[in-house]
Amino acid sequence: MQNEMKLEFDSRSCNESFARVTVAAFLTQLDPTLEEVSDVKTAVSEAVTNAIIHGYEGRVEKVTILCRLEGRELYVEVRDEGKGIADVALAMEPLFTTKEECDRAGMGFSFMEAFMDSLEVESAPGQGTCVKMRKRIGREAGDGGGAGKEGSLGSSRAECMEKVKQERS
Ligand code: ATP
Ligand code: MG
Repeated sequence: MQNEMKLEFDSRSCNESFARVTVAAFLTQLDPTLEEVSDVKTAVSEAVTNAIIHGYEGRVEKVTILCRLEGRELYVEVRDEGKGIADVALAMEPLFTTKEECDRAGMGFSFMEAFMDSLEVESAPGQGTCVKMRKRIGREAGDGGGAGKEGSLGSSRAECMEKVKQERS
């Protein structure tokens, strides 16, 4: 079965939790584990935060989320029409940030990559940014997999940051 929803909201930080909870609610149909829900919420939250703080830099414009369930796979697209990214590969490097002064850690894309099965970023200066993510939900009888990556990073951003710091010290 395929099922799709689209969400459009103002780029205000108070909408970050609205966005992640809405995607989580839509995902409920696939009967995900709590860990899967938490992974998806974290990834969506990172992408939406990026759209708000980097894409629009405080301007209030629209962020859109397209969400599709394709069988047991979740597809999520988070799109802004903001300033865009000149070098996507560089931006996706762990610890790369253009907002060090705002205490950003440069870990958003790394978290999206870790929590989802795939991550694709389409962006160009002045054209906005589209983050496309996929995650297979649940385990089918006999396939023995698909229930998340091994060595899960844990659930919250704070926990992940702790682990990254420990690994680097
Ligand atoms: P953190 O997510 O840890 O708070 P961060 O947002 O800087 O820090 P990433 O989320 O990995 O780290 O993003 C890396 C960089 O990519 C950002 O610093 C920014 O320059 C750029 N970027 C990410 N998303 C967008 C976007 N939607 N529009 C424009 N630039 C973006
Ligand atoms: Mg970020």
